[in-house]
Amino acid sequence: MSPLDNLDALGQRLAQMPRLPLAHLPTPLEPMDRLSAEIGGPRLWIKRDDCTGLSTGGNKARKLEFLMAEAVAHKADIVLTHGATQSNHARQTAAAAARLGLECHILLEDRTGFREAEYTDNGNVMLDRLHGATVEVRETGLDMNAELDVLAARLAAEGRTPYVIPGGGSNAIGALGYVNAVAELHAQARAMDLRIDHLVHATGSAGTQAGLAVGLAALGRPFPLLGIGVRAPQPRQEANVHALAVATAERLDLGCSVERADIVANCDYLGEGYGLPTPEAIAAIRLLAQTEGILLDPVYSAKGMAGLLDLCRNGTFTAGQNIVFLHTGGAAALFGYIRHFN
Ligand SMILES: *Cc1c(COP(=O)(O)O)cnc(C)c1O
Repeated sequence: MSPLDNLDALGQRLAQMPRLPLAHLPTPLEPMDRLSAEIGGPRLWIKRDDCTGLSTGGNKARKLEFLMAEAVAHKADIVLTHGATQSNHARQTAAAAARLGLECHILLEDRTGFREAEYTDNGNVMLDRLHGATVEVRETGLDMNAELDVLAARLAAEGRTPYVIPGGGSNAIGALGYVNAVAELHAQARAMDLRIDHLVHATGSAGTQAGLAVGLAALGRPFPLLGIGVRAPQPRQEANVHALAVATAERLDLGCSVERADIVANCDYLGEGYGLPTPEAIAAIRLLAQTEGILLDPVYSAKGMAGLLDLCRNGTFTAGQNIVFLHTGGAAALFGYIRHFN
């Protein structure tokens, strides 16, 4: 099969994959002119995947369109997933399950050790419960996918039909959501006559970047992609993303490969670890709130934005370029991190 090098062919291939309409698409692509003026350098744009519409929005909605189609095809009556305490993925999975009339059981891993009630019960945790999900907490350091398998076996023994969604919805099905997102963004930029010089976003469980990388490879690599790591060190993050990208390209049977060199993650903005806000991330949240009226989150998008802003200030990205930030959502977590804003 020859490489797919145009949008129509990619769109046709994606249209053959089982999918349920759960997200508000296309999400807007907007300039951030007050922020750009403040920073001085490239023109900054934002792809508003915080506006996907499912329980306050975020990037998991695109993945869940494909994952929940699989759950329904498997005749599941309950979906299981896991995440960190303030997981956006858990919240959007709970919402998608509610929308489809499925039960949802979530395992939350205590990765930060934060004890305040805002963190353990407000923000995303409050919304998980509001959507009717069963929530169980696990100490950190366990193999959470194995914990899910144990839970799935128990439910199956009780006569239930569970469908297991991995952490972050990051497998070769969920990543299809971001193959689709690249097709959407490319078409939008074309219609606006916008030349994109770089696409930047926060990368964690790898599905977003893997899907984006597959879509870009299929389109002939129209612009480079940079993930800002929020969890693993760079070598492991890039390896995770690459492995998932290869699996996703295979699943789509695209006839194009994702090279190891296509995957670039910068993990210099992680700070002390996953879910632990850095001063630069908190400053980025304030800056976006006060220049653009846009809400970032302390775990993902603010670290991504802190990285982007640093790369503008240090001259990596320069005047004359158009840099697009993919806003992956997460603002619901702000209410779990109130003490970091005092
Ligand atoms: C999950 C998440 C990410 C990271 O996406 P991955 O596909 O897990 O790499 C980024 N931002 C937000 C707000 C998220 O919830």
